[in-house]
Amino acid sequence: MNCIFCKIISGEIPARKLYEDGEFIAILDAFPSGAGHSLIIPKAHVDDVLDMDDALAGRAFALASRLAKKVKAELDCEGVNILQNNREAAGQTVGHFHVHVIPRHPGDNVTIKWGTTKMHESEADEVSQRLSF
Ligand code: 5GP
Ligand code: ZN
Repeated sequence: MNCIFCKIISGEIPARKLYEDGEFIAILDAFPSGAGHSLIIPKAHVDDVLDMDDALAGRAFALASRLAKKVKAELDCEGVNILQNNREAAGQTVGHFHVHVIPRHPGDNVTIKWGTTKMHESEADEVSQRLSF
């Protein structure tokens, strides 16, 4: 498989590694929004969260939480975004699951934004029923 992150994990492509255990690596993003923009990546190839074991996803987000605290302590940012994209429609560009940890500063160049839509009560009722679990 021609996967950039699998190649980073195997050592074929270099990366600045921040953390490694049996299941994950954390690396600096090569095209960062700013200093400290980093990625949590599972070593076993999985395309996205929709194909991922829930417990593994939980451990990925726990690591992102740890890294966010490290980023805050070391880089003195004012906030941190933890986010990840699943599939092209959602903006995913590398098809190997990863979580972004993005340090935030006032006036930085990061934009995370969506428009809002008015929903009819009946539609909201139906959607909430369908999504209840
Ligand atoms: P996505 O758009 O899939 O959520 O995020 C993919 C991320 O991977 C982007 O932020 C991009 O900068 C980063 N990226 C792409 N290629 C490489 C690479 O070769 N090395 C590293 N460290 N990051 C990469
Ligand atoms: Zn991969």
